[in-house]
Amino acid sequence: MTARIIDGKAIAADLRGKVTDAVHRLRRDRGIVPGIAVVLVGQNPASKIYVRNKSNAVTAAGITPFDHVLPATTTEAELIELVARLNADAAVNGILVQLPLPPQIDAQKIIAAIDPEKDVDGFHPLNAGRLASGLPSLVPCTPLGCLMLAKTVHPSLAGMEAVVIGRSNIVGKPVAQLLLAENATVTIAHSKTASLRDVCGRADLLVAAIGQPEFVRGHWIKPGATVIDVGINRLPGEGGKSRIVGDVAYAEAKSIAGALTPVPGGVGPMTIACLLLNTLRATCMQHGVPAPRF
Ligand code: NAP
Repeated sequence: MTARIIDGKAIAADLRGKVTDAVHRLRRDRGIVPGIAVVLVGQNPASKIYVRNKSNAVTAAGITPFDHVLPATTTEAELIELVARLNADAAVNGILVQLPLPPQIDAQKIIAAIDPEKDVDGFHPLNAGRLASGLPSLVPCTPLGCLMLAKTVHPSLAGMEAVVIGRSNIVGKPVAQLLLAENATVTIAHSKTASLRDVCGRADLLVAAIGQPEFVRGHWIKPGATVIDVGINRLPGEGGKSRIVGDVAYAEAKSIAGALTPVPGGVGPMTIACLLLNTLRATCMQHGVPAPRF
């Protein structure tokens, strides 16, 4: 068997196009222009690239970016003060504070300071609680992207055995909640899971969010399963360059899975597209306008 490759780039481009159209209609019909504040503290090279990519995508979608680049020496109080100003600014509909933050700043305190209605990352405890309670909420971007990719293969996930490897608040737990809400039977595996290989072998849908290069081997995968690889791991490549691999051994998985996301070009592009979608949804919510459904 050769797995169908789930083209995250194309699916994300399609979603970005729909969001851009909806943003255009919002401006034309109601005079509303969505805005997002992206806050970067310090000089983490990966964060700088993420923030730049996010800002470019935001602008391309017709959303107004409000970028804040702060020195690595910024104190927790200073960052909370900025978040409070952004909470109060009606032109800012979404607030994203890029993680990780420097050690003197408690990320949980910053997340909790963001107005939950502007929490386009979906990390605020209120949004996490609403998701776990099955209530409408702003949902973390990467998990939302994973769900959308899975649904391109399985429009209904009801009754499927889903295994999520990873239990972070950013990926694993919210992915599991989303799959549960879609009526999948969900197992969350982690570093203390016994017989991980056997657990994976049960999965009709396997989501790997571990952070270990090519950790999930091909022979762990149930033949025909759909595999969503969230991992982004940088390995040394040829000529001193680095290459990016996922958490799943791609070449092995390709010959046993039914469908598979590549890395890069799978979940990654969906994360940014879902950030735009969340900003649109947050804007609609704040203006009492029904959010478009895609
Ligand atoms: P994280 O916070 O480090 O969590 C990793 C999870 O994997 C933890 O729950 C950990 O278990 C589990 N784990 C680690 N080693 C394991 C092992 N040997 N066996 C089973 N489980 C193991 O990472 P994260 O933030 O969730 O990110 C996961 C991956 O996704 C990373 O590669 C990250 O770069 C990538 N990512 C990609 C995107 C995207 O846009 N594509 C976005 C976010 C993250 P314990 O809880 O027991 O420690």
